[in-house]
Amino acid sequence: VALDKLLDIKGSIRVFCRIRPFNSVENWRNSFPVSVETDKIKIKSLGSKKEFIVDRAFDQNSTQEDVYKEVEPVIKSAFDGHNVCVLTYGQTGTGKTYTMEGVQGNPGIVLRAMKELFREISQEKCENYTLTMSMLEVYMGCLKDLLAPKQHPLRMDPATKSNISIMSRNNGTVEIEGLTDTEIMNFKHASRLYNKGRRARATSWTNVNETSSRSHCLTRIIIREGEKGKVISKIWLVDLGGSERLLKTGAIGQTLDEGKSINLSLSALGDVIAALKQRKHHVPYRNSKLTQILSDSLGEGSRVVMVVHTSPSEDDLLETICTLTFAKRVR
Ligand code: ADP
Ligand code: MG
Repeated sequence: VALDKLLDIKGSIRVFCRIRPFNSVENWRNSFPVSVETDKIKIKSLGSKKEFIVDRAFDQNSTQEDVYKEVEPVIKSAFDGHNVCVLTYGQTGTGKTYTMEGVQGNPGIVLRAMKELFREISQEKCENYTLTMSMLEVYMGCLKDLLAPKQHPLRMDPATKSNISIMSRNNGTVEIEGLTDTEIMNFKHASRLYNKGRRARATSWTNVNETSSRSHCLTRIIIREGEKGKVISKIWLVDLGGSERLLKTGAIGQTLDEGKSINLSLSALGDVIAALKQRKHHVPYRNSKLTQILSDSLGEGSRVVMVVHTSPSEDDLLETICTLTFAKRVR
């Protein structure tokens, strides 16, 4: 449709911004520093103003459906052979997981996309297509298979647990060896697996720290022609780790290392997208595990949507500006 034309003219990345509603502890009565127009975020504070242009901005009243509607054509383009990558970016607590996973009764992008995919393959022209699903977490440069069959608890040593490796082929495609890839038969089956992966993320690595904000969670769907047949395309749905800078959080020790690792991979991601946009000869995929994994789904022929998230609050303004600066760089 129209968006397809637009994408061809504009290049393959679209950048959206979603502002989350004020939460109960934020003081919204006397300040609305962040405001939104269709394709513009305006920041107003202490008499100064800044504007950031995006492809689509979602205000505090936006629904999961509003957001999905904009992502939908990109998901559908996977059936035309485009690899797809949808990523949520932003400071911890700004709604990345809300957008990607959603909450009980109000699903996010992943489940809506699954529903769509099954709707598509129920049609005649796609009837021999099959879908498989994988989930993995990238934490401190280690990969964890979130859908791996249960292991014996004594063997659950995080350091040795991962036997997944990234294989980049000469033709530019990437394979992740050792990653569980399960055929999904219908929507119900897919959502059951997805919930299993989500639970595995929540309890992984260490039970003490809340690591989900310091890891990336990647869900992959592969569309194949027939069982084990030719790959038509892959769809990556990625809930990125929190982008907050480390100074403000006053992090030390383990938390500091985790933050550094996230910051490194997020800036590697920014570098890759920026290099692709400038059509640079060398694209620095090798600088992080995240960009290695996504390397055949960000470049030529791929369709990328980056949904950046911001807080509406005055207190988070510096982070908000960092996030929007990232958005500007990759757009
Ligand atoms: P992140 O993944 O970026 O750390 P979360 O998705 O966990 O952030 O969101 C933080 C909190 O704000 C959660 O309680 C979430 O349900 C809520 N929230 C975020 N975005 C929205 C939204 N658009 N509408 C309603 N609640 C939201
Ligand atoms: Mg989250």
